[in-house]
Amino acid sequence: MKKLQTHKMEVSIDKHSSHLEQFKPFYKQLDEEGKTIEKLPRERLEDYQLKAINATLAHVWEHNEYYRSKLEESGFTAPEIENLDQLASVPMLEKDVIRGDKDKILCVESKDIGQVHLTSGTSGKPIYTAYTLADQYVYDLLPKYLELFKETEDDVAAVALPYEFALPGLGFQRLFQFAFGTAVLSIGKGGYMAPVDKSLELLKEYQATVLATTPSYAALLVEESEKYGIQIGKDIRLKKIWLTGEGCSSTFRERLEKWWGCEVSFFYGSTECGVIGVECSKHNGYHIMEGHVKVEIIDPESGKVLPHGRTGEIVVTTLLREGMPMVRYRSGDLGVLRKSKCDCGITMDVLQLRGRKEHMLRIGEEDYSPFIIEHFLMELPEVGLWYHLKLDQGSLIIEAEKFRTELSNDQLANKIKQHMADRIGIDCEVVIRDDIPRTFGKATRVFT
Ligand SMILES: [Zn+2]
Repeated sequence: MKKLQTHKMEVSIDKHSSHLEQFKPFYKQLDEEGKTIEKLPRERLEDYQLKAINATLAHVWEHNEYYRSKLEESGFTAPEIENLDQLASVPMLEKDVIRGDKDKILCVESKDIGQVHLTSGTSGKPIYTAYTLADQYVYDLLPKYLELFKETEDDVAAVALPYEFALPGLGFQRLFQFAFGTAVLSIGKGGYMAPVDKSLELLKEYQATVLATTPSYAALLVEESEKYGIQIGKDIRLKKIWLTGEGCSSTFRERLEKWWGCEVSFFYGSTECGVIGVECSKHNGYHIMEGHVKVEIIDPESGKVLPHGRTGEIVVTTLLREGMPMVRYRSGDLGVLRKSKCDCGITMDVLQLRGRKEHMLRIGEEDYSPFIIEHFLMELPEVGLWYHLKLDQGSLIIEAEKFRTELSNDQLANKIKQHMADRIGIDCEVVIRDDIPRTFGKATRVFT
């Protein structure tokens, strides 16, 4: 039998009990069968999900006034659904309801909170999430995804994600340390204690094998390495990069694979919901991490659940949370969900991300995802990884940088213009710049 990785540490919390304890035997059983949740037959997976949703509904009904009142208003007399389709009758949770309110959906006493995270609050007040210690170190680590994650204790993982406020830095830190026993280099994103040159030096000194970061920071680290005389592929030899935080197109991802000389995969999660989806080695979309979350796609206007294959807003229900469960949380992200027919054998549904609702670009009469435009732009190897998309009265202006090319600015601008017309039928204006600002934060590429 294949030897399974084991979680390296468990937090023991005296007299701790939760509605989630009942799922420990399920995962233990899987371990004993030498399986993970990733390849379970759908019936068994969905049976688990129904139980976990009902456990969550019972928990929020019992411990949170807001959730309970909403359920009662929708006609629930008990916190229970009979099948997964009935999840559609559970009220959705809107961002605006919890924005700036740290207690609204809190389901434990404040003394039981172990960690607080905040969203960056770029569009107003932040959203708070509170985790108990058990959320972080016990329940969150119950589902294993050993097909999706190949990290082991022999790896050294650099986490170049924000540690302040948001979840990503600490989330990856826990995953690597506690699930895989990996040494972690907490380099953050160019903060006061960790300038880029020192971070690169650390990757080199400790022979990092894994990097978790954002697409733009992965690009920035390569550019900076040239400045400091550190050779990627020689001084730093990664075997895997996890990208998260910002979306990007598959062509951008492939460009990073070339630069870094290793596999680059997407990881989709959020500070509110934690892990949501992960790309397998086939790179055909994100497998939903169905041990942790139930994902639905809804029509953003009517709120009705859409069948597989239709694009809509992503709605997430967390399955293994006691501190602050998210029940049918409207993420604001757009995507399309499909049954898995993936060659990797993973049975968990596959999600394609389409970006955020508010980031869609209205060009002429059509809405375009910035990732689609990026995808076609990045098909041209002469275009660098830093660019802006701007809208001027319904027409698109692309600002791009040259990358290792002899073409003149005019030649490249014409080439891009022609390429976008041929590939996607968009007539755009192109400006070649050499001063698009690099960022340590979230890269802003779209201006509307
Ligand atoms: Zn797959």
